[in-house]
Amino acid sequence: MTDEKRVALITGGARGIGKAIASRLARDGMNVAICDLLEDAMRETKVELESLGSDTATFSCDVTDLDRVSEMVAGVEEHYGRLDVLVNNAGITNDKLLMRMSGDDWGKVLSVNLTSVFNCTKSVIRGMLSNRWGRIISISSVIGLMGNAGQANYAASKAGIIGFSKSVAREVASRGVTVNVITPGYIETPMTRDLPEKAKQQLFDMIPMKRLGTPEDVANAVAYLASDDAGYITGQILNVNGGIYM
Ligand code: NDP
Repeated sequence: MTDEKRVALITGGARGIGKAIASRLARDGMNVAICDLLEDAMRETKVELESLGSDTATFSCDVTDLDRVSEMVAGVEEHYGRLDVLVNNAGITNDKLLMRMSGDDWGKVLSVNLTSVFNCTKSVIRGMLSNRWGRIISISSVIGLMGNAGQANYAASKAGIIGFSKSVAREVASRGVTVNVITPGYIETPMTRDLPEKAKQQLFDMIPMKRLGTPEDVANAVAYLASDDAGYITGQILNVNGGIYM
């Protein structure tokens, strides 16, 4: 063990929402390990996290591969001597109407978004149970609750995370390990920033708070669920969506 700081592992932590989560947990005093496929972005994020006081180990790991994930988790446990918080954040979209969706389009999205959650959670659970403390937080989506035309694969994967998490929450609750899900709405990313003004206005009209969410809005919710203050909260879905779905 390097020190008494808690240790978090964030999948897809090199950029976007995952990076905001990693920065927030580092600012809250944790050591944060990140895994991603983007090696250059991961190197830059490591420097930023270290400037916030985190000892940051990086892992180039495809979260769809159970053997690689279990090697990575062993690497985290070896480096820090502990692993307290897992944030399942890595995710992709591949939007198409069902009529045009191939088996491959379906399988890849299910594998990156849902099988990865099984792989990572299974790999960390033994250590958390024996420590009698753990936090597993998975980033689903409002689309997993509402559905969306053109996103049957994405919606199924994000809804699957919810059933998975509620089941595991019941299995591990008595050992101080909580398992929760965050369902972000529309979050400001390069994709949404570049939308034409008219499309943005239509989006704002649908959102009671009249703005997109920020990656930091999601990170704030993760920080709460990862804290001691959230110790009696498990098996829950926390919507971070500006009221678009209640
Ligand atoms: P980004 O695409 O910016 O970040 C996702 C990260 O995950 C990327 O760095 C990506 O790397 C990595 N990743 C993808 N596949 C794998 C894999 N197989 N193994 C390891 N890492 C992988 O997405 P966002 O930050 O926008 O989204 C983060 C999460 O939030 C996702 O789960 C998404 O579904 C969810 N979400 C996002 C919303 C939004 O509006 N942006 C709304 C609701 C939910 P690479 O680029 O190399 O693939």
